[in-house]
Amino acid sequence: MVLTQSAEEAVRQLKETLRIAGHHQQALYLLSWDNRTGAPKKGVQLRAEAIGTLSEEVFRMMTSEQMGEWLDTLAEPDVFASLDPVTQATVRYVRRNYERNRRLDPAQHREFVTLVAEAESVWEGAKHAADFARLRPYLERIVEFQKTFAQAWGYADHPYDALLDKYEPGLTVAQLDPLFEHLKTETTALLRAIVGTGRRSEWPQGRRFDAAKQREVCLHLLKSIGYDLEMGRLDETEHPFQISINRYDVRVTTRYVEEDLLSALFGTIHEGGHALYEQGISPDLINTPLCEGASMGIHESQSRFWENIIGRSRAFWEHHYPVLLQVFPTQLADVSLDVFHRAINEVQPSLIRIEADEVTYNLHIILRYELEKALLTGDLKVADLPAAWNEKMRELLGIVPRHDGEGVLQDVHWSGGDFGYFPSYALGNLYAAQFLEAMERVVPDWEDQLRRGQVDGILGWQREHIHRYGRMLEPAEIVVRATGRPLEAEPWLRYLKRKYGALYGV
Ligand code: ZN
Repeated sequence: MVLTQSAEEAVRQLKETLRIAGHHQQALYLLSWDNRTGAPKKGVQLRAEAIGTLSEEVFRMMTSEQMGEWLDTLAEPDVFASLDPVTQATVRYVRRNYERNRRLDPAQHREFVTLVAEAESVWEGAKHAADFARLRPYLERIVEFQKTFAQAWGYADHPYDALLDKYEPGLTVAQLDPLFEHLKTETTALLRAIVGTGRRSEWPQGRRFDAAKQREVCLHLLKSIGYDLEMGRLDETEHPFQISINRYDVRVTTRYVEEDLLSALFGTIHEGGHALYEQGISPDLINTPLCEGASMGIHESQSRFWENIIGRSRAFWEHHYPVLLQVFPTQLADVSLDVFHRAINEVQPSLIRIEADEVTYNLHIILRYELEKALLTGDLKVADLPAAWNEKMRELLGIVPRHDGEGVLQDVHWSGGDFGYFPSYALGNLYAAQFLEAMERVVPDWEDQLRRGQVDGILGWQREHIHRYGRMLEPAEIVVRATGRPLEAEPWLRYLKRKYGALYGV
């Protein structure tokens, strides 16, 4: 069927508006990158106003009456069927967000944005002083907002579904509950066995690693995993992140700690994994909102795949450890590859999520997931949150924080209003292992390739099955197409048992 004149006009207008909104977005991303990599302190206030203006402009374009009319025209079944696949996926994606945003009361939304901006700065002080009472009134209001949003967005079974959908489209509590329950049982059993061996890392403490030399190694690692520096750069920041200004400008940041070599190495590979994803998206998606990763979970699967499955494998370091020895000959003279390999895979229950190893990491997420659900249904009051946190830490990890600063106050997410985000991190692990098994069937010699310093087989598989699609496909579609199975916990558990079974003899 040929498009009618009004449909053709709607396609043209929609594309033009998305192109302009995308240009505003580029400016916003660059401002955000600059804010986090060394913008002068005194400029922050005026900068925040500019960010506010540009974001409001994008929001206005994406929620206008006209936008609604174009989307309605293009969603008519006959019209929709005659659109090309990229336009179809664009209409689907933009319409979903349009409806979500239109369901919020604009005045209420503004109030929420102001509230979380304030709460985030209160959180910093509260965390530092380990004083939950300071943050409590803010959190109480934020939780009430989450309940309102969940009602406005709608859900079939559980209000938490409405929040999950924002980060991992299509995922529900009905799927996550049994998955996480299974994961919890199996992981705590493995953890007990590992702790029971009493084995500790022999990594030498108290040595200094020059930051400039760490940067050299980080650049070497980024290049060697296939990151294209001609469309990227590496900068320094307090909290490492990856950000795409546009399809050909995909940036990575890291943090150098001179007493802790491993922090920058693995932080850089992690952000590099995110960047490889963004550098692999099909150029056909440029100037559409599909030119980004499919979801938080799929994105995290790529960063964790490179950081943990590749970056903490022995094969990878058989090739790269000699480079590290060359850069730090005195500091590492008495450290063998075996000691290094065990040190980068040490398992130990710990209090802080972002410092957790592969085995314990998901337990930190399950804890947060259970608390968020209880807050949303009203089964848990914000006032009782610190006690509930400590109780769950004891149950899952066998340790309890000394104060709330290293407990319930450690993450910024709740102050930022990001309820429903945490599960994405655990999903990243699960997806990564499921992708590994599928890749292994096609590239069985991937470890030999790593020993030779090659990543083409691995990266090529990811490009073909994951990266190129951007947001063309939903997360669940990507997983089924790439692996032949829906999301499941077994590949991850097999990966953990195989790897840590060998490392710890359990
Ligand atoms: Zn990440």
